[in-house]
Amino acid sequence: MKIDYVNLSTQYKLERFKLIQLIDKTLMSGLHVGGNEILKFEKKIAKLCNTKYAVAVNSGTDALTLALHLAGVRKGDEVITVPNSFIATTAVIIHLGAKPVFVDVKDDQNINENLIEQKITNKTKAIMPVHLGGRMCNMKKILSISKKYKIPIIEDCAQSILSKYDKRLSGSWGDVGCFSTHPLKNLNAAGDGGFLVTNKKSIYLASKSLINHGMENRDKVSNFGYVSRMDNLQATILNFRIKALKKTIKLRRANFKIYLKNLNNKRVFFPKEKIDEFNTYHTFVIQVDNRDKLKKFLKRKGINTSIHYPIPIHFQKAYRKIYSKKENYTNAENQAKRILTLPINQFLKKKEILYICKAINNFYKKHD
Ligand SMILES: *Cc1c(COP(=O)(O)O)cnc(C)c1O
Repeated sequence: MKIDYVNLSTQYKLERFKLIQLIDKTLMSGLHVGGNEILKFEKKIAKLCNTKYAVAVNSGTDALTLALHLAGVRKGDEVITVPNSFIATTAVIIHLGAKPVFVDVKDDQNINENLIEQKITNKTKAIMPVHLGGRMCNMKKILSISKKYKIPIIEDCAQSILSKYDKRLSGSWGDVGCFSTHPLKNLNAAGDGGFLVTNKKSIYLASKSLINHGMENRDKVSNFGYVSRMDNLQATILNFRIKALKKTIKLRRANFKIYLKNLNNKRVFFPKEKIDEFNTYHTFVIQVDNRDKLKKFLKRKGINTSIHYPIPIHFQKAYRKIYSKKENYTNAENQAKRILTLPINQFLKKKEILYICKAINNFYKKHD
């Protein structure tokens, strides 16, 4: 058996016939930068995420940059976030001249909400929780901290479209929710893309202008902006794929249930879904001893896995060049050595997941 971690050509093969026609229509319209597909996408997203506004942009990274920029994050400010995310979460803080202030994570790899308050200073301009792998952070607690100290929340929802905490959707808790439509995310374009959602009209209007060179209209510019627009072509693809999103999530959740039932070794840890959580399983991550050996063993069995992420951000060279003082986040560091991401994509067959479970169970039986 050979099991891929993701399979984007399988996805395309299934949608090819219809999608080609839609792409053709968009290209024939002659509208590439700006266009109806983008406006249509923004409307759909705002409705889906239960927010007043959505702005389509050209990456999740740019959505985060815009959100921090509009939260007033400037040189010398501090932003609270986690050291175990994708590198972009920290990069956007650095590029605005601000300092990332890391908080360690819990067993479930999400920010430890009880350690946030002690990191707040008079320079803290935003709290940026990351809903890693599709599991939401404890947003009730984080929201109460945000209100107490009047510090905005910018949610990194790149991996959590349609995830919920306490029945409330990802991206609708903070001042801004930032999403990615990178090909590997649950709602994926055929290239870079993303969007932000907000209930604040001022943020909506300002970001619409900022993504387009800061232009008010063709001739007038009142703030220097960015070039962060989504292409009409990517919006066309997303408008088509968004129809399948709920089903995709349903299938991923069903795949998780198969793992839950069949991964039976005590040495394989993964956090269960809590009663107030609705996870969308962008990734399924287990925490194990002998991770590297297991990864190689699975590879020999034809099973491709991944690691999100093997090097904590405070250990990355890019970070150490700026902040050379030793920092220590015990859980994030221990998890980096133990985490392994198993395939959970919507195209997997049940017998493939059973094969993966059996291989892992056997590996630990042998090493007991
Ligand atoms: C994917 C991702 C991003 C960046 O999104 P891009 O669209 O690739 O720029 C940011 N944060 C997290 C947690 C991500 O997974």
